[in-house]
Amino acid sequence: MTDLPLREGLFHIPESPGDKPYLIGSRCRVCGYACFPGKSVCVRCRRDDTMAEIKLGPYATLETFTVMRVGPHDFPPPYVIGYVRMKEGAPVFTLITDCEPKDDALKLGQEMELVIGKIREDSRGNNVIGWKFKPAERQVT
Ligand SMILES: [Zn+2]
Repeated sequence: MTDLPLREGLFHIPESPGDKPYLIGSRCRVCGYACFPGKSVCVRCRRDDTMAEIKLGPYATLETFTVMRVGPHDFPPPYVIGYVRMKEGAPVFTLITDCEPKDDALKLGQEMELVIGKIREDSRGNNVIGWKFKPAERQVT
């Protein structure tokens, strides 16, 4: 069984303890707009030479979520998906892990933490590796 990234260049997989995962996005040097995945053109100020690569994570705030009760055959429900907003400002659509698939399992505005790990198996039995978020374990200061 092999680990396959969902797509190259979207995130950093930690290689040792203490090495933190992060997503690879971009930020506009002129207006500050940040996004994930990264873009080459700023959608806010419409310039095409101002976007710079940035690291996003590992912390974010939960903006919205929903419990999925139907799903594709290779992704059995129930599971939780949502939008989080990275501390760096970029919104990220994500699978949410380490929580009960219940409507009251999470609170809007709570701190979430990035996890890079197995999302599903492909048809050949490989682990597809991608990003997901779990409720943050650290104390919010
Ligand atoms: Zn801009």
